[in-house]
Amino acid sequence: MTQKIRTRIAPSPTGFLHLGTARTALYSWAYARHFGGTFVLRIEDTDVARSTQNSVDQILESMRWLGLDYDEGPIYQMQRLERYKEVVDRLIAEGKAYYCYSTPEELEATREAKRAKGEKTLYDGRWRPAPGKTLPPVPQGVQPVVRFCNPADGEVSWNDLVKGPITISNREIDDLIIVRTDGIPTYNFAVVVDDWDMQITHVFRGDEHINNTPWQINIFNALGAPLPLFGHCPVILGDDGQKLSKRRGAVSVTAYEDGGYLPEAMLNYLARLGWSHGDEELFTREQLVSWFDGTHLNKSPAQWDPVKLLWVNAQYMKQADNQRLAVLVAQQLVKQNVVLDAALVEGHLSKVCALFKDRCDTTVALAAWAAKFYGDVVPDAAEKAQHVTEAVKPALQMLADKLATCVWDKASIAAAIKEVLTATGLKMPQLAMPVRVLVVGTAQTPSLDAVLELCGKEKVITRLAAT
Ligand code: GLU
Repeated sequence: MTQKIRTRIAPSPTGFLHLGTARTALYSWAYARHFGGTFVLRIEDTDVARSTQNSVDQILESMRWLGLDYDEGPIYQMQRLERYKEVVDRLIAEGKAYYCYSTPEELEATREAKRAKGEKTLYDGRWRPAPGKTLPPVPQGVQPVVRFCNPADGEVSWNDLVKGPITISNREIDDLIIVRTDGIPTYNFAVVVDDWDMQITHVFRGDEHINNTPWQINIFNALGAPLPLFGHCPVILGDDGQKLSKRRGAVSVTAYEDGGYLPEAMLNYLARLGWSHGDEELFTREQLVSWFDGTHLNKSPAQWDPVKLLWVNAQYMKQADNQRLAVLVAQQLVKQNVVLDAALVEGHLSKVCALFKDRCDTTVALAAWAAKFYGDVVPDAAEKAQHVTEAVKPALQMLADKLATCVWDKASIAAAIKEVLTATGLKMPQLAMPVRVLVVGTAQTPSLDAVLELCGKEKVITRLAAT
């Protein structure tokens, strides 16, 4: 019988969807899709003080934007408290978990004493039941936590899908708190109950969780639950070799959506960052799904490379449908208070996108070009001084006059330009450069007749006059 693959992503809604989490979400999703399995979204919101609805919304939006469609969820842990309680009660009844009444002050004092002796500051096991052991009297008015009876000896081993075999001794870890004094379970416990109940077969997550995995495996074993396979992906590093963090640039998926990246480029870049299929740098989502079988994941950290991401995005910009780009560019323009009606977006803006998309690496860059067609243009002063010389001004006037009476299409505009060149003896760049500077603000543009046609007769004539 073949196993039904079930993967999940389990973000905590204490902030936006971090790029690292987005990447493991992507691997979990691609793995499930590759094997025709199920991908689950679980929201780990048990950190009540730090979880917010706004973060949940941002996470859902980022998943939607990246196209990481989930088959089940979002499942919220805070809606499963009864289930966790049931499992905790069972562990307590079986002697596999126990109430601990040690106060934070007592725990700190014990830790301090151990520190002074140079010992590991693990929990001292004061409330851990054992045959023949007399537990301290239960203090009045102290709300207990529940701790898991971690095996005192032996070791925990697993064959990590990314890192290979890992072994951690039980002596390194202590009796984990699985329920806090407020009755809310901790991450390491809730995650196990959920992965068990949701029949998760493969867990891909960041390698900051490697140290949690032995506890989780021990809890799975205590429950008699089947173990999933674990794959811990290395952190993403910033260009300074340090862990990618807010201080080192944008780390949220939404920042890239706002920054004018295309989701398919982001998906491609994120997937490649930590995984490879031969030398392939550009691949579609379908190719990713067909290639991604959980192998070829990098063991060592990948470095976030904004320049490469821009390059990847530029490749997708070139191929993108013009009308789709126009809608995205229109959204960017709104941020500059340029609001276009739907017909203009579908018609004119699409043509602008078609003409300029090859030279833009984001929709923000494309919007900067587009803005020149809808708002005012302030020519670059240096370029103006260089190109719009006294010598060329009569030719500019001649062109403006010809264009004023010309049929407004590319061929007629090109013919008018040619007539001016013939009449004045100027070379094409000598005329085209100043026209570009005056009409769109800069001397570097795609073909002049196409730019002028899109700009419209009235704007062109007015701008040519503004010498
Ligand atoms: N809530 C955890 C996190 O965001 C999930 C870790 C896991 O996938 O087990 O890091």
